[in-house]
Amino acid sequence: MNAVDSARMLTLMSSADYLAAPSLEEADLVLLNTCSIREKADQKIYSDLGTLRRWKQRRPGRLVGVGGCLAQQDGEEVRKRAPHVDIVFGTHNIGTLPEMVRRAERRLPTLALGMDEEMTHWDVVPHLPAGAVSAMVAIMQGCDNFCAYCVVPLVRGREVSRPAGDILSEVRALAGRGVVEVVLLGQNVNSYGKKEGEIPFPELLRRISAVEQIKRIRFITSHPRDLDDRTIRLFDEIETLCPHVHLPLQSGSDRVLEAMGRGYTRGEYLAKVGALRHLRPGIAFSSDFIVGFPGETEDDFRETLSVMGEVRFDSSFSFRFSPRPGTRASEMKEKVDPQEAADRLRRLQELQAMHTRERLTAQVGREVLVLVEGASARDPGMRCGRTACNKTVNFTPGNIDGALRSVLVTGAGTHSLVGEERSANA
Ligand code: SAH
Ligand code: SF4
Repeated sequence: MNAVDSARMLTLMSSADYLAAPSLEEADLVLLNTCSIREKADQKIYSDLGTLRRWKQRRPGRLVGVGGCLAQQDGEEVRKRAPHVDIVFGTHNIGTLPEMVRRAERRLPTLALGMDEEMTHWDVVPHLPAGAVSAMVAIMQGCDNFCAYCVVPLVRGREVSRPAGDILSEVRALAGRGVVEVVLLGQNVNSYGKKEGEIPFPELLRRISAVEQIKRIRFITSHPRDLDDRTIRLFDEIETLCPHVHLPLQSGSDRVLEAMGRGYTRGEYLAKVGALRHLRPGIAFSSDFIVGFPGETEDDFRETLSVMGEVRFDSSFSFRFSPRPGTRASEMKEKVDPQEAADRLRRLQELQAMHTRERLTAQVGREVLVLVEGASARDPGMRCGRTACNKTVNFTPGNIDGALRSVLVTGAGTHSLVGEERSANA
C-alpha cells in the first residue's frame, strides 16, 4: 500500500514540476513514506532522519517531508524529534502534497494529518516506470477489523472501497500502456465494496478478467475469514487468476487466533486451503505469521508449526510480536519472554526454509510461463521474472520477444529458480 502511495506521490510531484532524482545528492526534496506496522520500521525512520539532517545542512533550500503511517500516528512527535522536517503529512493527505511542498518552499512549516479528508489522491494514477508489465491497483484503503495486534485501522483509518468503475478504468488504461499483470491491493480484499453497496469482490475479479490484454490477476491481502466460496470457485473459472494466494494465518492455535480476534479457526483455514487445492492442484500459498503473541505457549506455537506441516507454504513473512501503541494486544499482560519469542521465530523460519526449498525443487524439470521484469540482479546476462505461482526465475534468454516467456526450470535455490528459455522451434 505504501509502494502505491509512493508511486502516486511521484505522479503528483511531477505535475508540480519535480522529477525523480537519480541520487540523494542531486535531490532538492526527500519524502519519506513511513510504515509503523512494527517497531523496527519506525526506528529506521528516525535513523534516516538523522542522515537527512546532515544532508539538509550541506545545501540550503533542501526540503524533507515525512508521510505515511508513522507520520499519521506520531505527527507532533516527528516534529519534536526531528525539527528539520519541513512537511509532515498523513495517510489521507497525499492529494495536497504539491500544495504542501509549495508552502515549504516559502519556509512555512506544514502539518497535515486530518483523516476525514476527501480521498483526492485515489484518482491520482500511480507513476508507472517505462516498460512496466505489472502494476499494483489499490481497490480499497483502511481496515475495520481491528485485529488485537494491529495498528493499521488506527493509522490508515476505516475501510473505504473505490468505485468499481474507477478501478476498471484504471485497469483498462494500464492495459493500454502494455501492462499484462495487475495486483489488486487492499487490507481485506474479500470485503471489497460491502459497506458501499458496490459489486462484490468476485464480481470485480470477473469484470477485470474481461479486459483482454490482462493475462495475470493477483490480489493481496485475502482475509482467511472472508475468503468466500464464490471467490474460491473463480479459481476454476478464470484462467488468468494466478494460482497463488497470500492467506495470512498468523497463528495455528485456535486459542491465539481467538485472542487476536481473527475470526477463523485452524480447521476453517485448512478447509479453505483444501478447497483451493482441489480446484487448482499446483496452487501456491504464502502466509504471514506472528510469534510470541501475548499468552502464546509452546503448545500454541507447535500448533502453528503443525499447520505449516499440513499446508507447506511456498513462502511466508514471519515476525516477532511487536506491541503497537493504541492496540488491544499492547495492553495484554502475559508477555512472552523475548528470548523465547526469538527462538520460536528462528524455528519457524527454519521450517519455512525447508518447505520453500521443497516447493521450489518440485518445479525443476517443468516448463513454466515467466512474466519478464528485467535483467537479473545476480547476472546481467540473465533475465528475471515470475511464474504464475509467484516464484522468481532467473533465466538465460533465447531470442524471443514478449513479456511472457516459456522457460524450462533447471535448478532451485533457496528463494528462486533458474532456467533456460525455450526457443520457439525447440
Ligand atoms: N491486512 C493484512 C495484514 C497487514 S499487516 C492481513 O490481515 O493479513 C502485515 C503483517 O504484519 C500482518 O499479517 C502481521 O503478520 C504483521 N503484523 C501486524 N502487526 C504486527 C505486530 N504488532 N507485531 C508483529 N507483526 C505484526
Ligand atoms: Fe490489521 Fe487485521 Fe486489518 Fe489486517 S485485517 S490490516 S491484520 S486489522
